[in-house]
Amino acid sequence: MGVTYKMESLEIIQIGGSRVKEKLRSEFKNTRARTGNGWVTGATETAIDYSINNLRGYLNDITIEISWQIWQALINADGKEARAWYSPNRQYKPKDTESELIEYLKAYKWIPDKSGNFQFPRDMTEETLHENFVYDDSNGLLSAIGFGEKAQNNNIEQTIVEEWMLNNGGCTIDDYKIFLDLKGRGLLPRPELSPFPKDPQLVNLERRTEQLIKQYNLAPRKKYPKKSISTRSTKGTIDKSTYLINKYKNERGQLICQICKCPMPFKKRNDVEYYFEAVEAFSRKYFSREYEAQYLALCPECAARYNEFVIKDEENMALFNKAILTSQTPEIPLKLGDWSTSVRFIKTHFYDIKTILGFPPEEN
Ligand SMILES: [Zn+2]
Repeated sequence: MGVTYKMESLEIIQIGGSRVKEKLRSEFKNTRARTGNGWVTGATETAIDYSINNLRGYLNDITIEISWQIWQALINADGKEARAWYSPNRQYKPKDTESELIEYLKAYKWIPDKSGNFQFPRDMTEETLHENFVYDDSNGLLSAIGFGEKAQNNNIEQTIVEEWMLNNGGCTIDDYKIFLDLKGRGLLPRPELSPFPKDPQLVNLERRTEQLIKQYNLAPRKKYPKKSISTRSTKGTIDKSTYLINKYKNERGQLICQICKCPMPFKKRNDVEYYFEAVEAFSRKYFSREYEAQYLALCPECAARYNEFVIKDEENMALFNKAILTSQTPEIPLKLGDWSTSVRFIKTHFYDIKTILGFPPEEN
């Protein structure tokens, strides 16, 4: 039932540069003319753009006939028509952007599918294309208008899904979609993507104990002003922050939380140091002096949980104390409410805190 095309064929032509000038002018904002607020333009201004005469009018009133004419013009062009160029004068290299032709053809439903319905280029594929239309992207203009983009993206997604399923045997696409959805909404548990800081080459432990005993005995006793149990006057006398930063920075320079093992969530206003909380692991009952090794490096959330479920819960604190004293490894299981997690230490820190906890209690 052939279709006849009587209208004059449509051509892609070079058009006036006002659109591209408008679009790219701001990119040259550092090149304002020295004289007042004008532009140094004139004879050497470059403004090249491409389109089809009355293209928007055609697209607003699309028929299969017009669509076919546009299609022919598109696949027979030489390809340069995808970009528009602008430079205010010869001094500057022209900058480029999408041509009017591409901008309009992307924005309208103008390509007929097999049933004659007009679709956006991105929603089409070679397979769904109307039978009178020949797919030919040798000049790249069909790609430039995004033809087939959606299907391509779906394919990429499909490939990712399949690969993921291969590596996570037995998981269905639906499982994966749920996973993607949770991920998109930030609801997945934070994975341990950042390496935990490395232990230093292990030091001479005998010597370390000797030094620790010496230092600890020199460390200030915790003092509380009379009549107040909440304010401790000696708290600022040691540099626990530096101590913890030195221990819990990983090889990527990220400061890692000892409980969730994730990088601290944000940096301070200086944009250099991470914000974190140095939380004293035990109460005065266990630590009677001010000493750096008694502190944990925690992110704000873990610090809050630790405070709620350990500091305020003597029983849990006693359990944690016992666990440290009896553990051979520097990762100590810990329950924070419903959350069964652990506190992980750098070996030297673990050694120090364990040693201090083993000292006989002092009379206050
Ligand atoms: Zn944390």
